[in-house]
Amino acid sequence: MNKREVIVIGSGPSGSSAAFYLAQAGIDVLLVDKESWPRDKACGDAQIFTVFPIYKEMGIFEEAAAAAVNHMTGFTFSGVDEVITSYMAPEEFAFCTPRRIIDDIVRRGALRGGADFLENFEVVDLIIERGYVKGVRAVYEGKRLEVRADAVIIANGSHSMQARQVGIFNEDPDLAWYGARAYFDGVKGMDFRCIEEHLPHEMFYPAGYMWVFPEGGEVANVGVFITERALIKSGMRLEDFFWWWRDNTKIGKERLGEAKVLGEIKGWKLPSCRQLGNNCVNGAIAVGDAGNGIECFTGEGFNEGMQSGKIAAEVMAEAVKKHDVSVEALSVYNKLAGEKLNPYYGMMSAVRDNIASEPAAYSKFLAYSRALPGYPNVEIINTWIKYMKEELKL
Ligand SMILES: Cc1cc2nc3c(=O)[nH]c(=O)nc-3n(C[C@H](O)[C@H](O)[C@H](O)COP(=O)(O)OP(=O)(O)OC[C@H]3O[C@@H](n4cnc5c(N)ncnc54)[C@H](O)[C@@H]3O)c2cc1C
Repeated sequence: MNKREVIVIGSGPSGSSAAFYLAQAGIDVLLVDKESWPRDKACGDAQIFTVFPIYKEMGIFEEAAAAAVNHMTGFTFSGVDEVITSYMAPEEFAFCTPRRIIDDIVRRGALRGGADFLENFEVVDLIIERGYVKGVRAVYEGKRLEVRADAVIIANGSHSMQARQVGIFNEDPDLAWYGARAYFDGVKGMDFRCIEEHLPHEMFYPAGYMWVFPEGGEVANVGVFITERALIKSGMRLEDFFWWWRDNTKIGKERLGEAKVLGEIKGWKLPSCRQLGNNCVNGAIAVGDAGNGIECFTGEGFNEGMQSGKIAAEVMAEAVKKHDVSVEALSVYNKLAGEKLNPYYGMMSAVRDNIASEPAAYSKFLAYSRALPGYPNVEIINTWIKYMKEELKL
């Protein structure tokens, strides 16, 4: 195990996708994770449809579809006036699957694709020699060890010390979010087909919300997203938002008034972006949350992580085969990932700035949606675009 072509740190969706495509390109790849698998991850549990083509390429689509506790076709939103506004797409828009289950399906897909895997393997440091990342130092089975590699993919999430070690991190308090989720039973009034996002107070503008993602019967994944700046201003702790929402709002009271928490409330930090930045250094590429890959309006990062893992693997495989893992060679990743993901990041950023900029603007958009011909059978992304073009003249 002392020398591999590529080591991928972190077997979440981004790392497992990277490991799969590296192995498929004939690269000798070692995927490592500090946890015992399957592991939990604080999340809303929604995986939107844009990830389905990667599931298909990895040969896990059928398993992922069967494991989903909900196949959702719609979105429900509300603003400060708490009027429910729903958008129904003609086809399923997202799977809702607890991350303990779906992340393990993706990880096993990477192993079937040819990647080697070690769990309980905690990377503590990158080996850096003459300006190049050359492997990892880790704790494994109680011992410190080094594994050398031609290059490394850093995919160990938003708290990645290895991304920081090479200067890749984002500390903008308007783009860094905090999120917390808990499973609740006894949640009332949900439409099982819809992801719900509620923005009932000015502190949730331009980016934050309470969510309810139905997971079967009266069980739902309920959570809060809030930017770092808004969290500090609110004077509340993350977990207080659940009870604040229940005790101070109409929809919150309906959803959580009789509900009981199942298990713990779990929270995590999310680094979001308006456009991808530089995620390459000599010998390494950072992907997913480690590369600040969450979009900045809804906080979605699962699909972006898997897309970025795939693109990083393709660039890295070429670079390793050509024996050139310089930042110049790897920076093709910035270009390709930007071409793939920046249009979506840009659109969500525009929604944040122009539609959810403040409570009155958002209520106006929701009222416009409800007046559309065919409502609620209108799809949300097209409605955002149409509204910005036709009403806001952007
Ligand atoms: C509360 C919350 C709700 C969210 N809801 C959604 C949602 O509904 N839909 C959506 O698309 N996105 C959501 N996101 C964002 C989404 O969870 C992330 O974007 C996604 O998990 C990124 O995947 P990743 O593989 O980059 O990182 P992660 O999923 O965080 O995986 C990183 C892996 O690295 C491992 N690791 C960490 N450190 C080390 C180390 N030193 N050595 C070895 N291994 C290590 C970890 O154990 C972990 O398995 C949410 C985030 C939060 C916090």
